[in-house]
Amino acid sequence: MLFYSTNRLASPVDFKTALFEGLADDGGLFMPEKFPKIFVSPADGLREIAFGVAKKFTDIPAADLKKIIKAALNFPVPLVSLDKNLHILELFHGPTLSFKDFGARFMARVIDYYLGRSGEKLNIITATSGDTGGAVASGFHGLANIRVFILYPGRRISPLQEKQITALGGNVTALEVDGDFDDCQSLAKQALADAELRRQINLSSANSINIGRLLPQTLFYFLSRQKIKKPVIVVPSGNFGNLTAGLFAKKMGLKVGKFVAAVNKNSAVPEYLATGNMNVPNKTKLTLSSAMDVGNPSNWARILDLYGGNREAIGNDLEAITISESETKKTIAETYKKYKYFLDPHTAVGVAAANKLSSRFNSPFVVLATAHPAKFRDIVQSATGRRMPLPGSLVRIADKAKNSIALSVDYRHLKKILTN
Ligand SMILES: *Cc1c(COP(=O)(O)O)cnc(C)c1O
Repeated sequence: MLFYSTNRLASPVDFKTALFEGLADDGGLFMPEKFPKIFVSPADGLREIAFGVAKKFTDIPAADLKKIIKAALNFPVPLVSLDKNLHILELFHGPTLSFKDFGARFMARVIDYYLGRSGEKLNIITATSGDTGGAVASGFHGLANIRVFILYPGRRISPLQEKQITALGGNVTALEVDGDFDDCQSLAKQALADAELRRQINLSSANSINIGRLLPQTLFYFLSRQKIKKPVIVVPSGNFGNLTAGLFAKKMGLKVGKFVAAVNKNSAVPEYLATGNMNVPNKTKLTLSSAMDVGNPSNWARILDLYGGNREAIGNDLEAITISESETKKTIAETYKKYKYFLDPHTAVGVAAANKLSSRFNSPFVVLATAHPAKFRDIVQSATGRRMPLPGSLVRIADKAKNSIALSVDYRHLKKILTN
């Protein structure tokens, strides 16, 4: 299978190249050149479905691919039915309690597999404002051929998020930057653009637009459809990677009623679908569902490409809806009251969208639950009046020692650490 660039100027590349490069040479995002049909039987488990998808897109031999998937997807994905038309697919039982574990763990193991075959080593550098850093650090932790450097803004992320980055050790180095997220990002970009450095060490980023992170996320949609007939699938969205994976699944033959992108106040996509104008604000709005605070969703280029830029065609498959902060809080409160079920603020945006649209569709809704509510228990507590217990994995990480290297915003300091 070859992967072409959404900008169509670079030549198509194979899976391994798309995985290691992240972005095409012309700055575009990689897209699979075709979408083979996938057949899911009712008896297939999580890993069988993931294998069925992955074998169509990669050239990895079946036995190796099965091993990778077994190691990457080592946690359950329950579907919780709140009532007969409202179902929650809990994607938050991985090590960092976020759906991002699926993409990060799969991508990390596939990269490590290729490195093991070629005998190369790779350094990964990633800047984080909080949540992605934890998923990337945990995803790559313990892999033999990769060193990971996570740059995070000191004192500006939550103590628990900091522990998820700094307590791992081993091949994960946490760099606590004396600055804000933009400083972290600019340092990482300088390193990636430093030709001299890149002659000395093999360097890459584990960017969220990597095709290796998207493909395993198609799994969520086949799982939803396996349990519920013709579901309307609601996706709490920020960068629209998850939703892109859903549209990929549809191209692979998934039967679905409709996709719903539920967004917070950062509402460029609902406005585009309504008016045809994509107004990208110069400032991202901060909300309770902070992992969805994205002003200019980078995967939108993939969705436009899938539909040849035809807004009407996109609208046939996809509905997009903006949920306010007060609706998010109200939904957390009411869902707890009605079902004794805790929602994190991201999933709550999805459930609020399902509630708003329920009278328009004569089908059951599946809402993708993207984060564990205990990760946001202050918000959950202020909405419900209940304090949730921390799950065991978070208690264990909170008790571990923080281990980080203080980093100034002087690039020479970073370069010295990377070449050490
Ligand atoms: C990243 C994230 C999202 C948004 O996913 P996209 O693929 O960027 O649209 C939603 N919820 C949570 C908890 C996330 O971490």
